[in-house]
Amino acid sequence: MLINQIPKQQNQATISVMDQKTVRPPHVLIFPLPLQGPVNSTIKLAELLCLSGLHITLLLTDHIHTKLLKYSNIQSRFSSYPGFHLETIPDGLPEDHPRSIDRFIEVLESLKTKSSILFKDLMTTDSRRPVTCIIADGTMGFTCDVANEIGIPIMYIRTISACCLWVFFCFPNLIESRELPFSGNDLDTPIKSIPGMEEFLRRRDLPLFCRFNLSDPNIKTYLSEGTENPRAHGLILNTFDDLEGPIVSQIRTFCPNLYTIGPLHAHLKLNLESFSSSPPSSNSLWKEDMSCIPWLDSQPSKSVLYVSFGSLAVMSKELWYGLVNSGSRFLWVIRRHSVLSEIIETPPELSKGTEERGCIVEWAPQEKVLAHGGVGGFLTHSGWNATLESVVEGVPMICWPYFLDQQVNSRFVGEVWKLGLDMKDTCDRVIVEKMVRELMEERKEEFRKSADEMAKLAKQCFMVGGSSYCNLQRLINDIKAM
Ligand code: UDP
Repeated sequence: MLINQIPKQQNQATISVMDQKTVRPPHVLIFPLPLQGPVNSTIKLAELLCLSGLHITLLLTDHIHTKLLKYSNIQSRFSSYPGFHLETIPDGLPEDHPRSIDRFIEVLESLKTKSSILFKDLMTTDSRRPVTCIIADGTMGFTCDVANEIGIPIMYIRTISACCLWVFFCFPNLIESRELPFSGNDLDTPIKSIPGMEEFLRRRDLPLFCRFNLSDPNIKTYLSEGTENPRAHGLILNTFDDLEGPIVSQIRTFCPNLYTIGPLHAHLKLNLESFSSSPPSSNSLWKEDMSCIPWLDSQPSKSVLYVSFGSLAVMSKELWYGLVNSGSRFLWVIRRHSVLSEIIETPPELSKGTEERGCIVEWAPQEKVLAHGGVGGFLTHSGWNATLESVVEGVPMICWPYFLDQQVNSRFVGEVWKLGLDMKDTCDRVIVEKMVRELMEERKEEFRKSADEMAKLAKQCFMVGGSSYCNLQRLINDIKAM
């Protein structure tokens, strides 16, 4: 039927719906988990969606918002997107709460009990700009409850690796097959009830809290992942098919509508280049010390080991000895409060080696550092952002995981992707020295070759026609159709 053949009343209604659609582009509210890693990658997704012309409201907790305003250029950089809007919400905790990882369950609990009402108000009070889709971190299940109650479609984003998410999905299997809790102390016992990982996963590669008993609050939190994530309309993962394809297929049996669109930082970087925009901000919650870049400029090619344990992990004295004894050059991020109390001052026997070959900063511009030609290796805690940043730049890794997804990630780096060495659990000075020598000298060609190959695949996936490129287009189209 042509439009002028439609009865008048129906015609007007159709036109006004069409007008609304043309006047109001889709409006997506994005709510990241309030931690450095998830904030970083989720804001990159927000910017990618801004570039595609969607209207975006980024919702941050007051705590994260204050830090971002202080240390990143988020406000000035997003001001160039007319449809962008920033909203904040209290996390319900007292100002002096540390919000540290060992107490992060309290943050989640407070968000659920105290902030969910405010979250709902936010969604329902502004009728001028109705939200047409929510993208929230899947760890915050209350967002899905609210979305269902008020009838707005919701997608979940997970910023951990697909391999760890799959381990969480399989927790009920592990308990049913009595692989959890562990009986006896042998951490090298193979784990058999996680499909796709039977050949290489050991107890020590499961998230650290699996070593405790089943009443650990983390187990309770992650036990329901396999039922929680499928509740959303779709699941967005910061990974790419060439890296985690087989595991992504396993997750798809629970969540058929999956979007693998990572590595988000590199995907955004490429899109900004094609819009001839400035490079992306780092979304740092701490002040970046740029002095390490001129220091790196003065080092020989690929001679420096970059050492950083992310925003949440702590480090020890043995590691320092191993690093200095290895004779390698190093750039080390030591955050205030990340050093164990055993190190109050630099031990005199370490001062000389540190001064001669080392550079220490409190917080580095990590993406720039890993892309620098002076860097030849990365001693990392295997956080998922750090891992992807290293993969994209083709930098081989030594993994010293601390908690959560890091134990799983490091096993994949060492055993599946062959991108480095998994030091895990045994961090004495002799082992550290041995591993650094192996990565930076003895086996450097072998690791560089496999890291270069994976970096090539990572860069292809967000080129036109690549898997992450196509999945992002599909995500944008699906949001527009909502
Ligand atoms: N990061 C940074 N400078 C540093 C250390 C880390 O910019 O000195 C960034 C890093 O690039 C990454 C994020 O902080 O994007 C940390 O996320 P990740 O998932 O690696 O670890 P988490 O801190 O969540 O454990």
